[in-house]
Amino acid sequence: MGADLIIKDLHVNVEGQEILKGVDLTINKGEIHAIMGPNGSGKSTLANTLMGHPAYEVTQGEIWFEGENIVDMPPDERARKGLFLAFQYPSSIPGVSVANFLRTALNARRSVQDGDGNGNGKRRGVSVREFRQLLKDKMAMLKMDEGFARRYLNEGFSGGEKKRMEILQMAMLKPEIAILDETDSGLDIDALRIVSEGVNQLTGPDLGVLVITHYQRILDYIKPDRVHILVAGRIVMSGGPDLALELEQRGYDWIKEEVASNK
Ligand code: ADP
Ligand code: MG
Repeated sequence: MGADLIIKDLHVNVEGQEILKGVDLTINKGEIHAIMGPNGSGKSTLANTLMGHPAYEVTQGEIWFEGENIVDMPPDERARKGLFLAFQYPSSIPGVSVANFLRTALNARRSVQDGDGNGNGKRRGVSVREFRQLLKDKMAMLKMDEGFARRYLNEGFSGGEKKRMEILQMAMLKPEIAILDETDSGLDIDALRIVSEGVNQLTGPDLGVLVITHYQRILDYIKPDRVHILVAGRIVMSGGPDLALELEQRGYDWIKEEVASNK
């Protein structure tokens, strides 16, 4: 069997402009990869494309997820199959509580995990009791107040609460591959630690993680196996965890120079 997520020569246009210019990346379950890069290099474009956001047009290349090319697969199907994206800017859904949102998402995900992929699973979802217990456990893990579950999704949430909400969702859905897009931005050091600890508790042989970040800071808490540098829509360098430290010390300019001199 091949790898779990294989990105091959991915080219993506946004509003007619090419943003990703041939990205190759392979992620297996059990691995943590980090993508670092300057602002505007295409990190969020990659994340949104992987999830199938309609504004991101794949003009060339393939995305293989668990043995299937998902380039034409709708976003909800990708999510049910076990791809998960923690958004850089999560949106709010007025009138939908955290608990209701999570229950709906979990039922959709479970129908695929346990069934034939068309919602015809033996287990047609999660019972109220099981759901409450699961939610309680995961919220405790993320040190979230129980009243949080009754609030409307992301309405009036602080930056830290939004990010914690994303990780709670991830903990509930148990994805196969999770993409965290700048989950560190806007977090103070305590919130960063709680969120990172949450992610670390979820990592293991059944989960592959792609941590997208501008700063090295989150990688002090979530230890990547591989670090990739994205500049102007291309992965220009890959290495071990030390590459993130080097980047922190030297900034992005030397990479840009190195890339320019190799052309
Ligand atoms: P990063 O996440 O690395 O900061 P982005 O992927 O957000 O970079 O952006 C890369 C480029 O693509 C930027 O020039 C940005 O303006 C453009 N871009 C990304 N998403 C959109 C969008 N939805 N509409 C218009 N331009 C976009
Ligand atoms: Mg971004």
